[in-house]
Amino acid sequence: MLSQVVELIENKQSFAITTHIKPDGDGVGSSLGLYWLLKSLGKSAEVIVRGDVPLAYRSLPGADQIRNIESVGSDYDAVFVIECSDLERPGLSGLEGQFTVNIDHHSTSEHFGTINWIDSTASAVGEMIYNLCKAIGGRITREIAECVYMALVTDTGSFHFSNTTERTLKVASELIKAGVKPAAISEAVYNNYPWSRIELMRQVLATVRRDPSGKVAFLRQTLEMREAANAVDGDNNGFVNIPLSAREILAAVYMREVGERQYRVSLRSKGDINVAKVAEKFGGGGHRNAAGLRIEGDWDEKEAEIVAAVKEAVERAEATAAGDITIAPDVL
Ligand code: 5GP
Ligand code: MN
Repeated sequence: MLSQVVELIENKQSFAITTHIKPDGDGVGSSLGLYWLLKSLGKSAEVIVRGDVPLAYRSLPGADQIRNIESVGSDYDAVFVIECSDLERPGLSGLEGQFTVNIDHHSTSEHFGTINWIDSTASAVGEMIYNLCKAIGGRITREIAECVYMALVTDTGSFHFSNTTERTLKVASELIKAGVKPAAISEAVYNNYPWSRIELMRQVLATVRRDPSGKVAFLRQTLEMREAANAVDGDNNGFVNIPLSAREILAAVYMREVGERQYRVSLRSKGDINVAKVAEKFGGGGHRNAAGLRIEGDWDEKEAEIVAAVKEAVERAEATAAGDITIAPDVL
């Protein structure tokens, strides 16, 4: 919990910070926000991320210091693991047996850390880093503010997803006071893709279909499409949300081929429809309105299974809203 993290930082000197492989704005922004906080407290800190940092986040202060290595040394007092469901997610060796601090806002996180600070009410881990800064009596420097703002704006879909709360906007306001230029951050994230994104979007959108109820949309991306578009990682950001812009669509399933008979699946929903439960059923996880999983097998078959499970989630939410059934606490 938070008090343990504060105590650890106060009593130790040398830290590493890592996040999941293929990091998003919250992963990079929170890691760098924590990095600047530790630096401002006179600590030694290093951010380690496996693979390249996506272009959208490379303009953040400190992004050029991020180390792209495959193994974490054992000479740190503790390693912060940001936004990871388990210790394999960073894709780094050398984490086992270390003093680790698991900081996450997913309720599905395994409590793999020596210290676990999980706050599923936080819109982004970035919001937690802000709280940590306040709890430790640190000053919100411009560097911390820019990194944390990046985390907030990306994880809340520019403050329009259901995880946006009064606290989120209060924190954002404080960050702007500390020097963040919101338009510059949005520009770096949303108007900074290569043309290959548009080529890929054209192909992926051509596959979009609806289930018989008309409420669940599903779309696909093949390896061939990626190749034809000359796509790079991140070009498909947000594709899963596109069908939700239609009034009738209450949930979306986006499957992309990542290998032979292997797929990454993104699930999104509106309102009370819980797709995290659906993802968990297939071995994945996430939040009520945004979740994901990996699956293997026949594409048509797996797609039908997932779409059917999502359809059930839609029906469950509709029945609950209508007061037809009472859901037992263990399935909420
Ligand atoms: P995305 O669809 O953007 O990849 O993921 C949406 C949400 O679901 C994220 O919060 C992410 O952490 C979670 N998620 C995606 N894939 C997996 C997975 O395979 N396992 C778990 N536990 N969570 C996932
Ligand atoms: Mn996040």
